[in-house]
Amino acid sequence: MSDDNGKQRLTPEEINRYSRHLTLPEVGLSGQERIKQAKVLLIGAGGLGSPMGIYLAAAGVGRLGIVDFDRVDASNLQRQIAHTTADVGRPKVDSIREKIQAINPHVRVDIYDEKLTAENAQAIFSEYDLVADGSDNFETRYLVNDAAYFAGKPLVYGSIFRFEGQISVFDPHAGGPCYRCLYSSPPPASLVPS
Ligand SMILES: [Zn+2]
Repeated sequence: MSDDNGKQRLTPEEINRYSRHLTLPEVGLSGQERIKQAKVLLIGAGGLGSPMGIYLAAAGVGRLGIVDFDRVDASNLQRQIAHTTADVGRPKVDSIREKIQAINPHVRVDIYDEKLTAENAQAIFSEYDLVADGSDNFETRYLVNDAAYFAGKPLVYGSIFRFEGQISVFDPHAGGPCYRCLYSSPPPASLVPS
């Protein structure tokens, strides 16, 4: 439901659904309405994209976009919790959209079953408030950084390697650095672990 100003209002069902958020002074009704207003783009529906998509949907983010051109493989299932055994062989974006809608039918999910490229990134990014990168290769990471920079969107960055992880928010338009400020160029392909 939205009022004349386009502001997202919660239905009685949503007020019940999000009641544990609404009792938190840091969220409350106006905070939950802002969460519902939010449009978040996820890059990847794998090990990082799965929990991001599921938690953001459960929390009530109003619109999620998901970019991934991969298919579910049995070796993904040990960590990519949006996908189940029955999903092996299916496009990851179809599989994750189904799980998100089962958890929270109030979320609008737009899927992009395609590789992110310099050609399509600007048009896709322009639709969202925030980009969350869960990609698994440096080519995509640098592309996401550059496209978010030029689109003026804050970038939430996450990456893992074995038992280590990194997470950060890059928001150069709020005066902070971008990913290239931290790591100016991708490592040589021969040094990149899988
Ligand atoms: Zn920079």
